[in-house]
Amino acid sequence: MKIIDILKRDVPSISYEVFPPKTDTAFESVKCATEEIAKLSPSFMSVTYGAGGGTSRYTLDIAEDIEKYFGIPMLAHLTCVSSTRETVREQIRLMKEKGITNVMALRGDLTAELENTDRSAWAYRHASDLVYELREAGGFCIGGACYPEVHPESCDQKEDIRHLKEKVDAGVEFLTTQMFFDNNLLYNFLYKIREAGITVPVVAGIMPITGANQVERAIKLSGSFMPQRFKSLVDRFGHSKEAMMQAGIAYATDQIIDLLANGVNNIHVYSMNKPEVARAIHANLSAMIGLEDTRG
Ligand code: FAD
Repeated sequence: MKIIDILKRDVPSISYEVFPPKTDTAFESVKCATEEIAKLSPSFMSVTYGAGGGTSRYTLDIAEDIEKYFGIPMLAHLTCVSSTRETVREQIRLMKEKGITNVMALRGDLTAELENTDRSAWAYRHASDLVYELREAGGFCIGGACYPEVHPESCDQKEDIRHLKEKVDAGVEFLTTQMFFDNNLLYNFLYKIREAGITVPVVAGIMPITGANQVERAIKLSGSFMPQRFKSLVDRFGHSKEAMMQAGIAYATDQIIDLLANGVNNIHVYSMNKPEVARAIHANLSAMIGLEDTRG
């Protein structure tokens, strides 16, 4: 099933993200965690693709297995910046062979090593280059990433939104946001992109922070603003694994309920291979997902 058809329904959707194992020995535990999340019957699931090809080997295998055995629509991520045309075309061929029709087209992060290479030699410079390639191959529903708090490489939001519009015009059918911890940032972003003529569905990416050690990593990765309410929660409960888990799930649940109440229907949870987190959030929202919007 094409993800765009799920997102266009007028009812809330919830999806979860997993990432492939870093080593062969971790494969079984990741497979097991992924299956536990699939048992929740989310609207769809996504599998990330490691930057530089590091952990990307299993992305398609995991996506194929879950779609085949659990009937959950799968979204396979694909990055391009460190890849040759041959590598990308081989991935596209494999996706077709495995029956994967939903792709998240990403550039990938610029490593220090990449930064020092000659950019004119790169086969792909922006995610939109990959979008064109996927469009040409045909048959894919293509998603793209967006940044309510501006991509760290952009000078300002205006420039970032201009490039986002180019990416959408290249063939992106839906967008998933970087994590954010203050919903007002998303509402403001949505207003601005709609004003810029970007009309595709936007899936709100929510990261439940369930350990104090995750905070620093999350900020470094995303540059996200941490509201005082969230900082106080980490200060108060961060020393206890169990308390932080409960508080982090409650915060993410709160964020999601506010989004749903304000008409943001499509939620993607960065569940980080943690079925217990996905299970708790799913239970908190069970009556809200699939609920028709009866507001006038
Ligand atoms: P782009 O859309 O290419 O944008 C990157 C920067 O380039 C932006 O500043 C943009 O404004 C600018 N830009 C775009 N087009 C142009 C142009 N024509 N001229 C000049 N500037 C331009 N990383 C992984 O390695 N694996 C994953 O699985 C993965 N999944 C992700 C999922 C989501 C939802 C998100 C939000 C991020 C994910 N990432 C992943 C991280 C992502 O690869 C990085 O954030 C990366 O730095 C940018 O990728 P992009 O696809 O947004 O790039």
